[in-house]
Amino acid sequence: MRYISTRGQAPSVGFEDVLLTGLAPDGGLYVPESLPHFSLEEIRSWRGLSYSELAFKVMHPFVDDAVPADDFRAMLNETYGVFAHKAVAPLVQIDTNEWVLELFRGPTLAFKDFALQLLGRLLDYVLEKRQQHVVIMGATSGDTGSAAIEGCRRCKHVDIFILHPYQRVSDVQRRQMTTVKGDNIHNLAVRGNFDDCQRMVKASFGDQSFLGGKTQLAAVNSINWARIMAQIVYYFHASLSLGGPDRSMAFSVPTGNFGDIFAGYLARNMGLPISQLVIATNRNDILHRFMSGNRYEQQTLEHTLSPSMDIMVSSNFERLLFDLHGRDGRAVKELLENASKGPVSIEDYRWKSARRLFDSDAVDDQSTTETIREIFEQNAYLLDPHTAIGVRAARNCRRDPSVPMITLGTAHPAKFPDAVLESGVKASPELPIHLADLFEREEQYTVLDNDLPAIQDFIVKHWKNT
Ligand SMILES: *Cc1c(COP(=O)(O)O)cnc(C)c1O
Repeated sequence: MRYISTRGQAPSVGFEDVLLTGLAPDGGLYVPESLPHFSLEEIRSWRGLSYSELAFKVMHPFVDDAVPADDFRAMLNETYGVFAHKAVAPLVQIDTNEWVLELFRGPTLAFKDFALQLLGRLLDYVLEKRQQHVVIMGATSGDTGSAAIEGCRRCKHVDIFILHPYQRVSDVQRRQMTTVKGDNIHNLAVRGNFDDCQRMVKASFGDQSFLGGKTQLAAVNSINWARIMAQIVYYFHASLSLGGPDRSMAFSVPTGNFGDIFAGYLARNMGLPISQLVIATNRNDILHRFMSGNRYEQQTLEHTLSPSMDIMVSSNFERLLFDLHGRDGRAVKELLENASKGPVSIEDYRWKSARRLFDSDAVDDQSTTETIREIFEQNAYLLDPHTAIGVRAARNCRRDPSVPMITLGTAHPAKFPDAVLESGVKASPELPIHLADLFEREEQYTVLDNDLPAIQDFIVKHWKNT
């Protein structure tokens, strides 16, 4: 399998290189040159497979000879064996023909574990083979950092440095990062905000000379193709559990960077019958404004009760735009260059073709907490604020009640106790057993100034230079 850039001006590369780099050299994102396509008959034959066996069927064409089949199977067994539920991604029914797909049974209680548990293992496998080393550098306001640290804690060839804004992430989220032990794990609390952290990470990727050529940076945010790939699997898994592929499904996806929902779009293009995809955003609604009015325009950032979806630009949306433009990289490049200067639209027929599959909704904090309360009163079931946005959008946008509507449950409610508290329900979400002692564990992090040379100096001194 070869991968090409959405901006059309970088050479194609294989899976290993896609895994080890971030952006393509022309500034685009990598996508597969062509997608594998599965017949209904083949998909039907996967009924009853375990999650990791199904993951093998769906992902092996993307990985092909970078990881031989037996090794890949073993890796997937290990990856999805760490989840705290036998079904890995269980479905919970919340109304007639309406479901939540619980993607928060992994070590850090958010769906990002599905991809990052695998990414850590893939990286280490490929680096062992090549006898190379990488430094992962990432900025986080919460979920990505902890999932990346958990995913890389056992890697021999990876050092991970995660920057978070000092005293500006929630206690649960900080502790999920800083209590993980490992000499390759480095938590940097930066005296600044999330944007400062992100800016320093971007600058470091742009100019890696501070590493002296001895190692290279690798990305763990959702521009990394391997993350999207891993997320395709659970669409197949959910569908097969509810009578697919012999009936189509609708999915509602709480999204910010368009990563998770793009995976659903790919599942459909690979042959899985999906008749509707609902883009569920919070008040940072650039995607909703585009889908409802064909206008793509950045606005200022709002802080909401669903912080993991607080974004201004939606990086993976570029991957959809590439397809909507007939995979013409030059057109995408021009469009996005214009988008950085002001609002843009795409040709009407292209926008309408997206609207055949996608609907969208923006849900504010008040509707979010109302939905948490509503579902709790109806079912004694607690939603986290991100999932609540998905459920609200699903109900507002549903096209056909005879089609199962599945909302992706992206986080465990115990990760976001404030929203639950604000909803007024008389229940406090408890951390699952494997994290019950989180607040007794010892933390380890270094506080550093908001200063690029100081951060880079710390990295140079602390990665295992072996
Ligand atoms: C990261 C995250 C999202 C948004 O994911 P995208 O890849 O931007 O679609 C939604 N909910 C939670 C809980 C998250 O951690």
